Amino acid sequence: MRQNTAIYLCFHFPRKYVSGRHNVNGKIDVENRICNQCCANEVEDEEHFVLRCDKYKLERAEFLTSLYEIFPELSNAPDKEKNDFLIKADDYEIFTLLSSFLDLTDKIRGLL
Ligand SMILES: [Zn+2]
Repeated sequence: MRQNTAIYLCFHFPRKYVSGRHNVNGKIDVENRICNQCCANEVEDEEHFVLRCDKYKLERAEFLTSLYEIFPELSNAPDKEKNDFLIKADDYEIFTLLSSFLDLTDKIRGLL
């Protein structure tokens, strides 16, 4: 089974970065889509959400440990490179790991 991670993220990503594109009060500039789930004062884009937001650090540790077992070269890569890898991935194992991580984050946020 081939599954594009980017497509999955689009459907599964009700974060400020995405919702700001189509806000009922008009488009919110990217730099103003700050994550309200942590104190990092960063735009809540895919990279922040999946790789840095403190709110999900325990769930992320499990996700990244599993990811690095499959792709050890990613463990020392910068976040931008990891994010690009995840977004462009069409690997079933990555899709499965990422979907498990996103399901856990949705539970934390009360979306499930
Ligand atoms: Zn955050």
